[in-house]
Amino acid sequence: MKVFAFSKALYSTWIYLEPMRLLLDAGEGINFFLEGRMLAFRDLAITHAHTDHFTGLQNIIITRLREQEVTGEPIPPLHIYYPADSHTLVRYFQYLEDVLSKWPELVVLQPMEPGDTVQLQGARNLHMTAIKANHRVYRQTALSYRVEQKRYALKPELEGKPQAEINKIVAEQGREAVTEPVMRTLVYYSGDGKPALDALSRRASLHIQETTFLEAHAKADHAGLPEAISLFRELEAEQLLLFHLSSRYTMREFWTTLDNLVPDPIERERIKAVKPGSMFVYDFTIPGF
Ligand SMILES: [Zn+2]
Ligand SMILES: [Zn+2]
Repeated sequence: MKVFAFSKALYSTWIYLEPMRLLLDAGEGINFFLEGRMLAFRDLAITHAHTDHFTGLQNIIITRLREQEVTGEPIPPLHIYYPADSHTLVRYFQYLEDVLSKWPELVVLQPMEPGDTVQLQGARNLHMTAIKANHRVYRQTALSYRVEQKRYALKPELEGKPQAEINKIVAEQGREAVTEPVMRTLVYYSGDGKPALDALSRRASLHIQETTFLEAHAKADHAGLPEAISLFRELEAEQLLLFHLSSRYTMREFWTTLDNLVPDPIERERIKAVKPGSMFVYDFTIPGF
């Protein structure tokens, strides 16, 4: 799964999961890097109302509006998910509605409470659930998100049975008689905040984790690198993408600290990081994507 990202603590964060057509946060400057790719977005999950996570939205919508006017073809509306109690985001959306002529046609707003699940637009059977994050935002909720795909697996009681017997049941009663839906966690996205274990995100294919500091700070509202690595291990996720690094550190300091925390080369190979100030592009291994 090709992932494009930009992230620098305090300034801007956005992460685009291209095959899912899902954008995670919409920080400043996204139009500069992604240009026409922004037309393919189908879903945008905003984690919280700090400006480094949402002020790129206006340019996304302007690009889509302009394309629609040039081609005369309607673009499917962008579904925007955001914390339901965020009056900051609601006011920002009201401002966009005031200044952009076709706002109601271009977006579908979907407020999210922790625990809410929605079906995403960009791929089949893709579901996203909001999780409460541990981050202070002017007394508004901050969210993390879990992306899962519903798949159909052979019912456990039929495992090990001869294929001919299974085929006979399918022929007589249909495929539903031999399979049952299972949810597989593909992505866990932390957003900003102190690391918190979401048990349902265990064994996620990709854990996207904020890491602002090189060391843990008890009073800080963000994760330090040791906490981020601990959570990755606790989650037993397959791959880890670190973002939201503070530019107070050099990348050399960051890589040295990471190498010390993760001495095993096989585990270390599964960890990538978004370098502050440049666009990150990487193709992660995600089943089906
Ligand atoms: Zn932030
Ligand atoms: Zn924040």
